[in-house]
Formats: sequence, C-alpha cells, structure tokens
Amino acid sequence: MTIALTIAGSDSSGGAGIQADLKTFSALGVYGMSIVTALTAQNTLGVDDVLPISADFVKQQFYSIINDSQLDSLKIGMLMNEEIVIAVSQLLLEHPMPYIVLDTVMIAKGGHRLLQLEAIKAIKQQLLPLATIITPNLLEAAALLSDSQAIDERDMRRQGRELLQLGCKAVLMKGGHLAGSQSVDYLIMPEGEIRLAAPRIVTNNTHGTGCTLSAAIAALLPQTSLVEAVEQAKHYLLGAIEHADTLKIGQGIGPTHH
Ligand code: PLP
Repeated sequence: MTIALTIAGSDSSGGAGIQADLKTFSALGVYGMSIVTALTAQNTLGVDDVLPISADFVKQQFYSIINDSQLDSLKIGMLMNEEIVIAVSQLLLEHPMPYIVLDTVMIAKGGHRLLQLEAIKAIKQQLLPLATIITPNLLEAAALLSDSQAIDERDMRRQGRELLQLGCKAVLMKGGHLAGSQSVDYLIMPEGEIRLAAPRIVTNNTHGTGCTLSAAIAALLPQTSLVEAVEQAKHYLLGAIEHADTLKIGQGIGPTHH
C-alpha cells in the first residue's frame, strides 16, 4: 500500500488542512497519515482562532510514524511558525523522503494568517530547497520573492523561474487569482514550462482548494511522472470544485466535494 503523509494544520470544519488532505489521499487510493502542526477553530465563515502545536511534539509525531512505517510521499501544508518550519526541515534532512510537495500556505481566504511573517524566510531558505515541487498562489510567490504580486502570465512565469532558482525541483505557479475565463497555472521545471489552463467554474465553494491540489499531487507522485501527477491532480480538483455546490455545508465559503 502506498503511504502518503501530510504535515499540516487541522481545519475543524473539515474542508481544508489535514482533513482535506486525508479525504484526497483516500479518494486517490493511497493510505494517509497525518502530523498536526496547529489546530484551527474555523468554519466556512472564517478562522476564529489558531493554536500551534509545539515543535517538539511535531517531531514526536514524525518519529512515531517513521519508527514503524516507510513513507512513499509527503505533503506539507500550514506550518504556522518558524520553530515548526525549522523542526520539519531538520526532520527531512535526517530522513529524506522520496517526494515532497510543499504547499506554501500563508493566509486563509478570509484573511487569517496561517504562517507568521517571520517564518517566510525559513521556508524559503530551509524547506523550499528540499521540495520536489512547491505550489504557491500569486500572493505566496510574491511574499517568497519579496516582489509585488504577478499581474499577468508573463510575470507569473518569471516569478516561477525565480523560485526554481532557490533550489526546489519544480514550481506550480497557481494563477487562479488572475482575471479571465480560464484559471491558468504554470508548471515550471528546469527542462521547461507547461501552461495548464482549466475552465473557471462559477462557485463560492472553494474552501481548501489549495490543500486538495497539493495533497493530490503528493498522492499521485509515487505512481507516475511529475507532469502527469500535476495534470491528474488538477483534473481531480476540477471535479471536486464542479461538485462543490451539491454539498451545501455552512453559510460562507463551503468546501469542495471529494
Ligand atoms: N485552514 C487550514 C488548516 C489550512 O491548511 C488552510 C489552507 O491551506 C486553510 C485553512 C485555508 O483554506 P482556504 O484559504 O482555502 O479557505
């Protein structure tokens, strides 16, 4: 059985974070394990509060898992603070993983910070170079590069190439926040770039889309090539968004349907 691990935050409303990752792993046929970095008290209207787990206990969860099982793939999501970022980087240097998908989670759609500003530097310097692929949205890419947010596809591609220079093996630049009838992402690799366009689906229910996409890539990487894993993960996310409105969960930005 393929085992994928997520190191991420808990979303009490079940739509994002660890909960979205585990649903995605299951739907894609891999066994999911989880290390919780923070608890959030949230619902579809937003994040009310965040309680970080100590870096030591994040490490303890990791050791408990790897003392017993061999992992095939890892997704990293919300890390909350610098201590946790450094702890996770050290764990991965000690215990290299076959595939690492780093979702550079910073701010929830409602505006609540899921990563302290001081931790961005540690993500960039310590964690990013260990990643098989990073999956920033436009705001996160700009924050990592201390640049302004990309306003068109040319900017996106340039920033993607700059992020690649920082040492990860590939960058998926998510352009969903650019205007247009399509949602355009760029997969930037040393050997070239691929433009990935998908129809923009009109729905309010997009909570946890970033978590779902990165978890799907992590689930698929042990089974196929990087390009196919990204294409299939996007296909999976598209289906989840297309069926989101059938769920009717909460009063705000609802989850997608796995
Ligand atoms: N809560 C947790 C624990 C998350 O990991 C994330 C995203 O990574 C979110 C909330 C944000 O979800 P969204 O911005 O899709 O609402």
